[in-house]
Amino acid sequence: MTALWWVRDDLRLHDNPALAAAAEDGDVIAVHIDERIEGVRELGGATLWWLHHSLTRLGAALRALGVPLVLVSGDPEELIPQLVRDSGADSVLWNRRYHAPRRAVDARLKGALREQGLRAESFDGYLLHEPWTITTQSGDPYKVYSAFARACGEAGPPRAAAGLPPRLAGPPDGVRAGGHEMRTWLRAEHFGQALDRRGWLPTSPDWAGGLREAWSPGEKVARQRLEDLDGVLGAYAEDRERPAMEGTTRLSPHLRFGEVSPHEVWHRSVECGRGTGPESFRRELLWREFAWHRLFHLPELATRNVRRQFDRFDWREDSKELRAWQRGRTGIDLVDAGMRQLWETGWMHNRVRLVTGSFLTKNLRQHWRRGEEWFWDTLVDADEASNPFNWQWVAGSGDDAAPYFRVFNPARQQERFDPDGDYVRRWVPEIGTERRDDPIVDLRDSRRDALAAYEEVRGSP
Ligand code: FAD
Repeated sequence: MTALWWVRDDLRLHDNPALAAAAEDGDVIAVHIDERIEGVRELGGATLWWLHHSLTRLGAALRALGVPLVLVSGDPEELIPQLVRDSGADSVLWNRRYHAPRRAVDARLKGALREQGLRAESFDGYLLHEPWTITTQSGDPYKVYSAFARACGEAGPPRAAAGLPPRLAGPPDGVRAGGHEMRTWLRAEHFGQALDRRGWLPTSPDWAGGLREAWSPGEKVARQRLEDLDGVLGAYAEDRERPAMEGTTRLSPHLRFGEVSPHEVWHRSVECGRGTGPESFRRELLWREFAWHRLFHLPELATRNVRRQFDRFDWREDSKELRAWQRGRTGIDLVDAGMRQLWETGWMHNRVRLVTGSFLTKNLRQHWRRGEEWFWDTLVDADEASNPFNWQWVAGSGDDAAPYFRVFNPARQQERFDPDGDYVRRWVPEIGTERRDDPIVDLRDSRRDALAAYEEVRGSP
């Protein structure tokens, strides 16, 4: 028997339910599809960089076991049945995804494969709780985080994490898949060429130097971070708000690409003891969960205000100011430090994401979508749920969001969370010199104008 494992955001061998089921069915052929789906945007530059390297590592790990990872581009509804025909596979297995347009593709494909008498099955590999299992008593989704988190607690602990499949092997003979001999997919150079042809790495210019220095994509490093979790969680409750420190886990891009399962992360944090650190860390994992459940119910989260009163909000458009924000040249120390950290490393500390987001949507009064789009392109952890969800949270247009009138004062935030100025000086070395930019807005005046604009829509539905 041969099983196709359709690899999506589950780039790992451990605790991977679809892969485990495929391995149980027989010989495994893995396939990754570069797909274009209507209503789903293409990945940004930083996530494409990550995906390239993560697939490289996954391909190598599978190859060592004799399992080919086939790379194809196009429409999965055509390609998967074709691969099934070419390889003689009996089953097609994958882990679920939650954005409506992607779910529609998966549902149609499942139906078509089953009609042909094949086994087509999906599994829970990306979220701790499936979105349809956490509902109010009347069956509606939760819109308030605290009630949602409570309901997750009442649902019981997430399922236990499984390790590696006990037996994992590829088909022994050279069958054909996607028009290629399977044997060729087991050659590193063939795989490498197919990946390079996708053109996901920046070339002219190569802007990824800072990303290479900061990150190493793939399951191996994700598991290392998991091993080291107790070192971070001991002081997490205190240090997580300090951008100058390595006070958070930096698991976000690894979770984003499924290099480690949230189930395993959850249970590992339980092993780290009962302190406030592990507990507050699990609350953060549930924010990830909440964002995905909201996207499940609100497929247009990235393009539409959840609170419709913001449709009439008087956003400003100023491409010069937007550019200054993007490049960390606003003259506001904490904002510039965060935006430069993002540009350089593909990641920004959560506290600073909040401050830069507040500055853009309130002091500069630019639409949250401008910020969301920039983060989408530059964050290595950018995902379809967390990014728009958090942007709508910061802007005040989302469910259970920070109210618009709560405007962060960057100077005060810096006093509280970067009291020695280590973070801002690291990213903005010219602070205190003549080369430092002047602020592009007056914080007090811009705050007043933002609040006045909010008053205009506040009472409306
Ligand atoms: P830790 O503090 O170690 O947290 C552990 C994990 O919990 C994270 O890896 C992440 O998976 C999850 N998590 C923590 N906070 C949140 C949150 N507020 N929302 C959702 N999940 C959370 N996170 C993303 O993963 N992708 C995004 O595209 C993203 N965009 C954001 C945009 C804005 C404007 C803001 C304010 C926050 C955004 N976040 C996003 C949430 C958060 O900033 C990052 O998850 C966090 O900084 C990642 O670092 P960490 O892994 O060290 O976090």
